[in-house]
Amino acid sequence: MSSNVHALERVRQSRDEEGRPERVDVEAAVRAILRWTGDDPNRDGLTETPSRVARAFEEFFSGYAQDPVQILQKTFEEIEGYDEMIALRAVGFESHCEHHMAPIVGQAWVAYEPNGRVVGISKLARLVEVYAKRLQIQEKLTAQIANPINDMLKPQGVGVIIKASHHCMTTRGVHKQGADLVTSRMLGCFRDNLATRQEFLRMAVSPEE
Ligand SMILES: [Zn+2]
Repeated sequence: MSSNVHALERVRQSRDEEGRPERVDVEAAVRAILRWTGDDPNRDGLTETPSRVARAFEEFFSGYAQDPVQILQKTFEEIEGYDEMIALRAVGFESHCEHHMAPIVGQAWVAYEPNGRVVGISKLARLVEVYAKRLQIQEKLTAQIANPINDMLKPQGVGVIIKASHHCMTTRGVHKQGADLVTSRMLGCFRDNLATRQEFLRMAVSPEE
């Protein structure tokens, strides 16, 4: 079970160990960017900026150091036969696009129909965080949240919907304010059962219901 997720995490961790730049290298790179913009990294307002940026990046990309398998490890089986949809709605997240390192700001709907076991509801929100706090494209983020739930819990089905606005599109490039991108990943009964699929889609389309 979950062998794919495990294998991927192992690859990622061994890659991290070797040749990871030091904090001072990152700060030097930020100073180079500041110079390149045309500003002076030595002026008062900018002297602390490289270390602030490094700390901000540590937070933006903290998901690389977290293991989704561990988050979903603890499950509960005393659920009295509960087998209806469990849905965490409109979980806010911030991520960064892997093409421009620009913010992606959005919400995720994460649902599954259990098959004998459930996880604590906060674990679903943490799973969104683990993958959002990495460099992403929205399509991959959507699938990455759904897959470990499917692998680890072996539920009847999983659905993930993400709505997000991409700053690389709203603040640069085509400058389309207000547009958001909607992606979904449906597995098991969320893919095969039209009623389940529609019940879940309705939550995300009309979140006030
Ligand atoms: Zn982008």
